[in-house]
Amino acid sequence: MVETLSIAVIGAPGVGKTSIIRQFIYNDFSEVYTPTRTRYVYRPSVILNGNMYELKVLDVPPISSFPSSSSQEWLDLRCRGVRNANAYILVYDICCVESFEYVKMIRQQIVENREGSSSEVPILVVGNKRDLQRQRFMPRRAVSVLVKKTWKCGYVECSAKFNWHVVLLFKELLGIAVARGMRQNHTSIRLQGALQRNRCTIM
Ligand code: GDP
Ligand code: MG
Repeated sequence: MVETLSIAVIGAPGVGKTSIIRQFIYNDFSEVYTPTRTRYVYRPSVILNGNMYELKVLDVPPISSFPSSSSQEWLDLRCRGVRNANAYILVYDICCVESFEYVKMIRQQIVENREGSSSEVPILVVGNKRDLQRQRFMPRRAVSVLVKKTWKCGYVECSAKFNWHVVLLFKELLGIAVARGMRQNHTSIRLQGALQRNRCTIM
C-alpha cells in the first residue's frame, strides 16, 4: 500500500519553482528561463524512513491569488487541485523582496480560505537562489524567525542551481505532513513491479 500526497508548489514568476522540482526529480538544471504557462503535474515516488510515498507535485503557473472557492478553482485550469493539496511549498527568491511579499499573501489566503482543521495544512516556505546570497534583502535568521514563529510554517533555504538542500526541503515537508497525519486525500495503490529507478528518491 502506498500513500499519495499532493504538494502544490506556488510562488512568483522566476523564483525557481520549476528548477527546484526538476532538480529533485531529474537532477537537471537549466540557466535558460522558460516561464511555466500551464499547470504541470509530476509524480515521483520517494522513500522516507523506510515508507514509500507517491507524490503528486503540482508546478502551479502564476496565479494572482489562492482560489477562494471550489468553483473558482474549477473555472481556472491553472489552479486545479490547489485548494485540496495535502501540503504547500511556497517559493521566493532570497534576493527579491516582492517575491517574499507574494508568498506572504498566498500563505495568508491559504489559512483564510481553507476551512476548519484543513487550514492547518503543512506549509513550507522556501528561499531559493541561496548561491546569490550576497544580494539577499533580509538576513536568513530574521526571515526564519518570522516564518517559523509568526507564520508557524517550516523554513528552508536552497539553491536549485547547485542542488543544495533540494532533497532536504522535500524531506522536511514530507516529515511535517506525515507527522500531522494529513492523509485525507490519500488513495491506496497496490505496489506492482519495480519502481522506475530515476523517479524514486530515497531521502
Ligand atoms: P519559476 O518561474 O519559478 O518556475 O522559475 P524557473 O525554475 O523557471 O527559474 C527561473 C530562472 O531562475 C531560470 O533562469 C533559472 O535558471 C534561475 N534559477 C532557478 N533556481 C536558481 C538558483 O538556485 N540559483 C540561481 N542563480 N538561479 C536559479
Ligand atoms: Mg516555472
